Amino acid sequence: MRIGHGYDVHRLVEGRPLILGGVEIPFERGLLGHSDADVITHSVIDALLGAAALGDIGGHFPDTDERWRGVDSLLLLRETMRLLRSQGWQVGNLDATVLAQRPKLAPYLLSMRRNLADACGVDPSQVSVKATTEEGLGFTGSGEGIASHAVCLLFNGAGR
Ligand code: MG
Repeated sequence: MRIGHGYDVHRLVEGRPLILGGVEIPFERGLLGHSDADVITHSVIDALLGAAALGDIGGHFPDTDERWRGVDSLLLLRETMRLLRSQGWQVGNLDATVLAQRPKLAPYLLSMRRNLADACGVDPSQVSVKATTEEGLGFTGSGEGIASHAVCLLFNGAGR
């Protein structure tokens, strides 16, 4: 078994949709990025790549590559899972924590879990997404951006 950790941050700006865990959330601002800037999914991808010691999201999906402009990050997650499976890795579980002062994310967490689980080819019971504020402190507290942490456990049927 292998453990992995991922962390990501994106800036909140006007004129962009807010997409978290593959869910478009009604809000007056959205996250800035080359892709859809889905910070939760990005942290999950980095956790998975980290567990397998296969580098990071920036190495696999560089923001200089036009192929990934505006891309649905769940697609990048599917691509990441294809790579992991080709090396015998399977997901035990994933756990993400998103740090956002606003909007309230509780109503969307189940949909996010379902999206992430579907992209990883696992059951939603293996995927957790939690949301917290940072009590008004720092860049998430001021609403400048949203951050997300994720950890995962992988196991390898090939006995690597
Ligand atoms: Mg990112």
